[in-house]
Amino acid sequence: RGTPALRVTERSDIVRWWPKLGPASEKYTRGVVGVATGSATYPGAAVLSVGGALAGPTGMVRYAGGARDEVLREHPSVIATGRVADAGRVQAWVCGSGLGTGEDAAAELRAVLAAPVPAVLDADALTLLVDGSLAENLRKRDAPTVVTPHDREFTRLCGEEPGADRVGATLRLAAWMNAVVLLKGDRTVIGTPDGRAYVNPTGTPVLATGGTGDVLAGLLGSLLAGGLPAERAAAAAAYLHGLAGREAARSGPVIAPDVAAALRPVIARLG
Ligand code: AMP
Ligand code: MG
Repeated sequence: RGTPALRVTERSDIVRWWPKLGPASEKYTRGVVGVATGSATYPGAAVLSVGGALAGPTGMVRYAGGARDEVLREHPSVIATGRVADAGRVQAWVCGSGLGTGEDAAAELRAVLAAPVPAVLDADALTLLVDGSLAENLRKRDAPTVVTPHDREFTRLCGEEPGADRVGATLRLAAWMNAVVLLKGDRTVIGTPDGRAYVNPTGTPVLATGGTGDVLAGLLGSLLAGGLPAERAAAAAAYLHGLAGREAARSGPVIAPDVAAALRPVIARLG
Protein backbone atom coordinates (compact mmCIF):
# COMPACT_ATOMS: atom_id res chain seq x y z
CA ARG A 1 0.00 0.00 0.00
CA GLY A 2 1.50 3.29 -1.12
CA THR A 3 -0.35 5.69 1.15
CA PRO A 4 -0.22 5.38 4.93
CA ALA A 5 -3.65 5.51 6.59
CA LEU A 6 -2.75 8.60 8.66
CA ARG A 7 -0.59 11.40 7.34
CA VAL A 8 0.35 14.95 8.22
CA THR A 9 -0.36 17.40 5.40
CA GLU A 10 2.77 18.96 3.92
CA ARG A 11 3.39 22.13 1.99
CA SER A 12 4.54 20.09 -1.03
CA ASP A 13 1.16 18.30 -1.07
CA ILE A 14 -0.65 21.61 -1.51
CA VAL A 15 1.70 22.73 -4.27
CA ARG A 16 1.24 19.41 -6.08
CA TRP A 17 -2.55 19.43 -5.73
CA TRP A 18 -3.13 23.08 -6.64
CA PRO A 19 -4.96 23.54 -9.98
CA LYS A 20 -2.64 25.01 -12.60
CA LEU A 21 -3.53 28.01 -14.75
CA GLY A 22 -2.72 27.91 -18.46
CA PRO A 23 -3.45 29.74 -21.70
CA ALA A 24 -6.69 27.78 -22.10
CA SER A 25 -7.94 28.68 -18.58
CA GLU A 26 -11.38 30.13 -18.63
CA LYS A 27 -13.58 31.34 -15.78
CA TYR A 28 -16.02 28.44 -16.13
CA THR A 29 -13.44 25.68 -16.53
CA ARG A 30 -11.56 26.97 -13.46
CA GLY A 31 -14.68 26.06 -11.53
CA VAL A 32 -17.71 27.94 -10.28
CA VAL A 33 -18.38 27.76 -6.55
CA GLY A 34 -21.90 28.28 -5.25
CA VAL A 35 -22.23 29.74 -1.77
CA ALA A 36 -25.49 29.23 0.15
CA THR A 37 -24.71 30.92 3.46
CA GLY A 38 -25.81 33.90 5.52
CA SER A 39 -29.19 35.46 6.14
CA ALA A 40 -30.65 38.81 7.08
CA THR A 41 -29.74 37.94 10.68
CA TYR A 42 -26.20 36.78 9.87
CA PRO A 43 -24.95 38.65 6.78
CA GLY A 44 -21.38 38.54 8.06
CA ALA A 45 -21.20 34.75 7.68
CA ALA A 46 -22.02 35.20 4.00
CA VAL A 47 -19.38 37.89 3.50
CA LEU A 48 -16.74 35.74 5.20
CA SER A 49 -17.53 32.50 3.41
CA VAL A 50 -17.60 34.28 0.05
CA GLY A 51 -14.29 35.91 1.01
CA GLY A 52 -12.81 32.46 1.59
CA ALA A 53 -14.23 31.18 -1.70
CA LEU A 54 -12.81 34.12 -3.66
CA ALA A 55 -9.32 33.44 -2.31
CA GLY A 56 -9.29 29.92 -3.76
CA PRO A 57 -8.39 28.71 -7.25
CA THR A 58 -11.80 29.04 -8.93
CA GLY A 59 -12.81 31.63 -11.50
CA MET A 60 -16.24 32.55 -10.28
CA VAL A 61 -18.41 32.65 -7.17
CA ARG A 62 -22.20 32.57 -7.28
CA TYR A 63 -23.96 33.64 -4.09
CA ALA A 64 -27.41 32.22 -3.28
CA GLY A 65 -28.61 33.44 0.10
CA GLY A 66 -30.27 36.16 2.12
CA ALA A 67 -27.37 38.62 2.41
CA ARG A 68 -27.09 39.69 -1.22
CA ASP A 69 -26.56 43.42 -0.60
CA GLU A 70 -23.82 42.93 1.98
CA VAL A 71 -22.04 40.33 -0.15
CA LEU A 72 -22.10 42.50 -3.29
CA ARG A 73 -20.95 45.59 -1.40
CA GLU A 74 -17.95 43.69 -0.05
CA HIS A 75 -17.29 41.45 -3.08
CA PRO A 76 -18.40 43.06 -6.37
CA SER A 77 -17.04 40.20 -8.54
CA VAL A 78 -19.68 37.80 -7.16
CA ILE A 79 -22.82 36.91 -9.10
CA ALA A 80 -25.83 36.88 -6.80
CA THR A 81 -28.73 34.55 -7.60
CA GLY A 82 -31.85 34.08 -5.52
CA ARG A 83 -31.77 30.52 -4.30
CA VAL A 84 -29.78 27.35 -4.74
CA ALA A 85 -32.25 26.00 -7.30
CA ASP A 86 -31.82 29.16 -9.46
CA ALA A 87 -28.04 29.28 -9.41
CA GLY A 88 -27.36 27.56 -12.75
CA ARG A 89 -24.05 25.87 -13.36
CA VAL A 90 -22.05 25.37 -10.16
CA GLN A 91 -19.22 22.86 -9.67
CA ALA A 92 -19.38 22.77 -5.85
CA TRP A 93 -21.59 24.15 -3.07
CA VAL A 94 -20.77 25.68 0.29
CA CYS A 95 -23.79 25.57 2.59
CA GLY A 96 -24.60 26.48 6.14
CA SER A 97 -22.70 29.30 7.82
CA GLY A 98 -25.26 31.79 9.17
CA LEU A 99 -28.00 30.20 7.06
CA GLY A 100 -30.47 29.74 9.92
CA THR A 101 -32.27 26.54 10.84
CA GLY A 102 -35.88 27.24 9.77
CA GLU A 103 -37.92 25.80 6.91
CA ASP A 104 -36.29 28.02 4.25
CA ALA A 105 -32.81 27.02 5.35
CA ALA A 106 -33.79 23.34 5.32
CA ALA A 107 -35.12 23.73 1.76
CA GLU A 108 -31.83 25.26 0.63
CA LEU A 109 -29.85 22.45 2.26
CA ARG A 110 -32.13 19.89 0.61
CA ALA A 111 -31.43 21.53 -2.77
CA VAL A 112 -27.67 21.42 -2.14
CA LEU A 113 -27.87 17.73 -1.15
CA ALA A 114 -29.81 17.02 -4.36
CA ALA A 115 -27.22 18.75 -6.57
CA PRO A 116 -24.90 16.24 -8.28
CA VAL A 117 -21.74 18.16 -7.34
CA PRO A 118 -19.40 18.19 -4.31
CA ALA A 119 -20.54 20.14 -1.26
CA VAL A 120 -19.24 21.55 2.01
CA LEU A 121 -21.71 21.53 4.90
CA ASP A 122 -20.94 23.71 7.90
CA ALA A 123 -22.55 25.34 10.94
CA ASP A 124 -26.37 25.62 10.58
CA ALA A 125 -26.34 22.91 7.88
CA LEU A 126 -24.89 20.56 10.51
CA THR A 127 -27.63 21.51 12.97
CA LEU A 128 -30.20 20.78 10.26
CA LEU A 129 -28.57 17.38 9.62
CA VAL A 130 -29.48 16.28 13.14
CA ASP A 131 -32.92 15.90 11.53
CA GLY A 132 -32.81 12.29 10.33
CA SER A 133 -34.39 12.80 6.91
CA LEU A 134 -31.75 15.29 5.74
CA ALA A 135 -28.98 13.07 7.12
CA GLU A 136 -30.49 10.23 5.08
CA ASN A 137 -30.28 12.43 1.96
CA LEU A 138 -26.61 13.00 2.75
CA ARG A 139 -25.87 9.29 3.23
CA LYS A 140 -27.50 8.48 -0.11
CA ARG A 141 -25.57 11.19 -1.96
CA ASP A 142 -23.26 10.11 -4.81
CA ALA A 143 -21.24 13.35 -5.07
CA PRO A 144 -18.53 13.90 -2.43
CA THR A 145 -19.49 15.86 0.68
CA VAL A 146 -17.30 17.43 3.36
CA VAL A 147 -18.79 18.22 6.77
CA THR A 148 -16.80 20.65 8.94
CA PRO A 149 -17.87 20.40 12.60
CA HIS A 150 -16.18 21.96 15.60
CA ASP A 151 -16.45 19.88 18.79
CA ARG A 152 -19.91 21.09 19.79
CA GLU A 153 -21.28 20.48 16.29
CA PHE A 154 -19.67 17.05 16.29
CA THR A 155 -21.33 16.25 19.61
CA ARG A 156 -24.75 17.32 18.32
CA LEU A 157 -24.32 15.21 15.18
CA CYS A 158 -22.98 12.09 16.92
CA GLY A 159 -24.67 12.24 20.28
CA GLU A 160 -21.25 11.93 21.93
CA GLU A 161 -18.13 14.08 22.26
CA PRO A 162 -15.11 13.38 20.05
CA GLY A 163 -13.06 12.39 23.11
CA ALA A 164 -9.30 11.86 23.19
CA ASP A 165 -9.06 9.72 20.03
CA ARG A 166 -9.91 12.48 17.57
CA VAL A 167 -8.80 10.51 14.53
CA GLY A 168 -10.97 7.56 15.51
CA ALA A 169 -13.94 9.83 16.21
CA THR A 170 -13.51 11.57 12.84
CA LEU A 171 -13.34 8.27 10.95
CA ARG A 172 -16.41 6.89 12.71
CA LEU A 173 -18.49 9.94 11.77
CA ALA A 174 -17.11 9.85 8.21
CA ALA A 175 -18.14 6.22 7.75
CA TRP A 176 -21.55 6.80 9.29
CA MET A 177 -22.31 9.93 7.22
CA ASN A 178 -20.71 8.74 3.98
CA ALA A 179 -18.83 12.05 3.95
CA VAL A 180 -15.35 13.39 4.47
CA VAL A 181 -15.25 14.87 7.98
CA LEU A 182 -13.05 17.83 8.91
CA LEU A 183 -13.03 17.97 12.72
CA LYS A 184 -11.80 21.43 13.68
CA GLY A 185 -9.39 22.14 16.45
CA ASP A 186 -5.80 22.84 17.33
CA ARG A 187 -4.80 19.93 15.11
CA THR A 188 -7.67 19.67 12.68
CA VAL A 189 -8.31 16.08 11.55
CA ILE A 190 -9.67 15.11 8.13
CA GLY A 191 -11.10 11.61 7.72
CA THR A 192 -12.65 9.73 4.80
CA PRO A 193 -15.47 7.17 4.80
CA ASP A 194 -12.97 4.48 3.73
CA GLY A 195 -10.69 5.09 6.71
CA ARG A 196 -7.89 7.42 5.59
CA ALA A 197 -6.97 10.48 7.66
CA TYR A 198 -4.92 13.65 7.50
CA VAL A 199 -3.78 15.76 10.44
CA ASN A 200 -3.19 19.47 9.88
CA PRO A 201 0.05 20.86 11.32
CA THR A 202 -0.53 24.61 10.77
CA GLY A 203 -3.26 25.30 13.35
CA THR A 204 -2.94 28.36 15.56
CA PRO A 205 -5.09 29.50 18.48
CA VAL A 206 -5.42 32.97 16.93
CA LEU A 207 -8.09 31.28 14.77
CA ALA A 208 -10.26 30.88 17.87
CA THR A 209 -12.37 33.93 17.04
CA GLY A 210 -15.85 34.28 15.52
CA GLY A 211 -16.21 33.71 11.80
CA THR A 212 -12.93 32.01 10.92
CA GLY A 213 -14.78 28.74 10.27
CA ASP A 214 -16.90 30.49 7.65
CA VAL A 215 -13.74 31.54 5.79
CA LEU A 216 -12.50 27.93 5.90
CA ALA A 217 -15.77 26.59 4.46
CA GLY A 218 -15.61 29.04 1.55
CA LEU A 219 -12.02 28.22 0.70
CA LEU A 220 -12.77 24.50 0.85
CA GLY A 221 -15.67 24.96 -1.56
CA SER A 222 -13.40 26.70 -4.02
CA LEU A 223 -10.90 23.84 -3.90
CA LEU A 224 -13.72 21.33 -4.53
CA ALA A 225 -14.99 23.40 -7.46
CA GLY A 226 -11.41 23.53 -8.72
CA GLY A 227 -11.48 19.75 -9.01
CA LEU A 228 -9.57 18.53 -5.95
CA PRO A 229 -10.85 15.26 -4.46
CA ALA A 230 -12.74 15.96 -1.23
CA GLU A 231 -10.08 14.83 1.23
CA ARG A 232 -7.34 16.78 -0.54
CA ALA A 233 -9.54 19.87 -0.70
CA ALA A 234 -10.20 19.59 3.03
CA ALA A 235 -6.55 18.97 3.94
CA ALA A 236 -5.38 21.85 1.75
CA ALA A 237 -8.03 24.25 3.07
CA ALA A 238 -7.14 23.51 6.71
CA TYR A 239 -3.44 23.92 5.96
CA LEU A 240 -3.80 27.28 4.19
CA HIS A 241 -6.31 28.54 6.76
CA GLY A 242 -3.77 27.91 9.52
CA LEU A 243 -1.04 29.69 7.59
CA ALA A 244 -3.40 32.61 6.95
CA GLY A 245 -4.11 32.87 10.68
CA ARG A 246 -0.38 33.04 11.39
CA GLU A 247 0.15 35.57 8.62
CA ALA A 248 -2.70 37.77 9.88
CA ALA A 249 -1.33 37.62 13.44
CA ARG A 250 1.86 39.38 12.29
CA SER A 251 -0.03 42.68 12.10
CA GLY A 252 -2.00 42.47 15.36
CA PRO A 253 -4.93 40.71 17.03
CA VAL A 254 -6.76 38.64 14.43
CA ILE A 255 -10.41 38.92 13.41
CA ALA A 256 -11.99 36.71 10.76
CA PRO A 257 -11.83 39.18 7.82
CA ASP A 258 -8.03 39.33 8.36
CA VAL A 259 -7.85 35.57 7.82
CA ALA A 260 -9.74 35.84 4.53
CA ALA A 261 -7.46 38.69 3.42
CA ALA A 262 -4.30 36.80 4.39
CA LEU A 263 -5.21 33.75 2.31
CA ARG A 264 -4.22 35.51 -0.91
CA PRO A 265 -0.59 36.31 0.02
CA VAL A 266 -0.21 32.90 1.69
CA ILE A 267 -1.38 31.17 -1.50
CA ALA A 268 0.79 33.42 -3.66
CA ARG A 269 3.87 32.32 -1.69
CA LEU A 270 3.17 28.65 -2.36
CA GLY A 271 5.01 29.19 -5.65
P1 AMP B 1 -15.55 27.96 13.83
O1 AMP B 1 -15.69 27.58 15.26
O2 AMP B 1 -16.48 27.25 12.94
O3 AMP B 1 -15.57 29.45 13.59
O4 AMP B 1 -14.11 27.49 13.35
C1 AMP B 1 -12.99 27.91 14.09
C2 AMP B 1 -11.71 27.70 13.33
O5 AMP B 1 -10.64 28.07 14.17
C3 AMP B 1 -11.45 26.28 12.90
O6 AMP B 1 -10.74 26.27 11.68
C4 AMP B 1 -10.57 25.73 14.04
O7 AMP B 1 -9.72 24.70 13.62
C5 AMP B 1 -9.80 26.96 14.42
N1 AMP B 1 -9.46 26.95 15.86
C6 AMP B 1 -10.30 27.18 16.89
N2 AMP B 1 -9.65 27.06 18.06
C7 AMP B 1 -8.38 26.73 17.75
C8 AMP B 1 -7.19 26.47 18.55
N3 AMP B 1 -7.22 26.53 19.88
N4 AMP B 1 -6.06 26.16 17.88
C9 AMP B 1 -6.03 26.11 16.54
N5 AMP B 1 -7.11 26.36 15.75
C10 AMP B 1 -8.26 26.66 16.36
MG1 MG C 1 -18.47 27.72 12.59
